[in-house]
Parts: sequence; C-alpha cells; structure tokens
Amino acid sequence: MSENSTYQKLRSHLAYLRLTAAAEALPRALEHATKNKLGPSAFLEQLLDIEVAATEQRRKRSLERFASLPAPWHLDDFDFDAQPSIDRKLVNELATLRFLEDATNVLFIGPPGVGKTMLAIGLARASINAGYRTYYTTAADLAARCHRAALEGRWATTMRFYAGPRLLIIDEVGYLPLASEAAAALFQVVTQRYLKSSTVLTTNLGIASWGQIFDDPTVAVAMLDRLLHRSVVFNIDGESYRMRPHRARADNLRKAVNPKHT
Ligand code: ADP
Ligand code: MG
Repeated sequence: MSENSTYQKLRSHLAYLRLTAAAEALPRALEHATKNKLGPSAFLEQLLDIEVAATEQRRKRSLERFASLPAPWHLDDFDFDAQPSIDRKLVNELATLRFLEDATNVLFIGPPGVGKTMLAIGLARASINAGYRTYYTTAADLAARCHRAALEGRWATTMRFYAGPRLLIIDEVGYLPLASEAAAALFQVVTQRYLKSSTVLTTNLGIASWGQIFDDPTVAVAMLDRLLHRSVVFNIDGESYRMRPHRARADNLRKAVNPKHT
C-alpha cells in the first residue's frame, strides 16, 4: 500500500470512529513525528492525547450547560476577610469535594447579600470541574417546574431528574412561602436524595423559622431531619456585601463633612 493511501485510510478510520480531533490533527502530528523522529507509540500517544483533551473539553462544556449556573462565580474570588463569620477552612475542605462521597448536605443560612449564592455556585463550579453532574435551581423554579410536571403527568420523570445530579443546588429556600404542593415537591426531592447524593441549600431563614416556609410544620421538621442528618451548616451573619460600596461612600462623605467624626 502506498504511503498516501495508508494515510487516506488512517484518516477515514479516525473519522469513522468519530475521533474528529485526532483526524484533524493527523497531518500536523505526522509532520511533528517525522521531524522529531518519534517512534510509533510516541506518535500514537500524542495523537490520542489530542482526542482525549477534546473529549474532556466537550464533556466539561456539556456539564456546564446542563448545570445552568446563573453566574460565573468561583470560590477563589470569594473575599473571606469581608465575611468573618464564614469558616474559611471549612469552605476549603468542601472545595475538595470529599463531602460528595458520603452525600453530605451543605446549608448556607443568612440574610440577603452575604454571599450564600456565591458560595453555592463556587461549590457547583468545583464539582463541574471535577467532572460531576451538577445542577442549579432556585426553590421557586423547582416548585414551578414540579407544578407543571404534575399538570402534564410528568411528576415521576421530573423527580428522577432532580435525583440524578451528583450535586444539586437549591437556592433561595424561604424567600417565598411555599404552597403545600411546592413544599411536597421540595420534600420529595430532598428525601429521594437523602443519603445518596449531596444537596446544597441556601436560605434566608434560620432553621427555627422553617415552619414559616411550609404550611405544614411536620413537613418542615421531616425535611430538616433529612437535610441535617449528615450536613455542614454555615450560619452567616454580618452585613450585605452588596451594601459595602454604599457604606464606604457614606463613610467618606461623613468624614468630608465632619473630619473629626470617624
Ligand atoms: P446572597 O445569596 O447571600 O444574597 P450573593 O451570593 O448573591 O448573596 O452575593 C451578593 C453579591 O455580592 C454578589 O455579586 C456576590 O458576588 C458578592 N459577594 C458577596 N459576598 C462576597 C464576598 N465575600 N466576596 C466577594 N463577593 C461577594
Ligand atoms: Mg442568593
């Protein structure tokens, strides 16, 4: 077989096996191998390396699309000095994702603006980067989706959907009171993930006030029971990060008006 027809065959094999990146890189890789006198295994390793990298990138992009994170936040961007009530070591421990192995849940509790969503998204991003299926939803979106599912006879499918991800973020629980159907949906999602996969939940309501979110306090108790059984809880106090620039500006103004006042 001539060298040219071997080359053509190799290309078509790669295309047939859908190793697109390797097929595209073939001329370049061959040239590189000839120039550097690479043996067959070194050449093959380099060619497949290109395909593996492309596959990994595709997989990561698809995980990212699926996760539907509402912001590009990263744990590295979190300013721990601004929020001393957050245990930095504990967050770093969570960032290793060991908590996913025993289905530990994470609760971020605190007033608006203290970084609950940012931390939850940061953990989600770490989980995506590690190749885990991850999904972000707000409690309101979850309730709306389950409501539609119930109307359209897709309840079981939707419950399976929320059981699927290795890490599920449920943001903003408690911002709106949940009707009993929505509470039942949230309860079922939490229950079916219990001891199987981790859920990260953020809420503005302290645990003692969870009765207010649900019509039925026994649902609140049963849900907290499952959430807290194996969990890491952050009680965040302190001021809203969003208000910091306003606060600084106000302080500067005050100092300008009355320099002795600090
Ligand atoms: P919450 O969910 O608690 O209401 P967010 O996570 O949405 O608060 O944070 C509000 C805004 O402030 C976001 O833009 C977020 O990126 C920013 N932010 C909050 N805390 C911090 C922090 N400690 N370091 C950096 N940015 C922060
Ligand atoms: Mg938030």
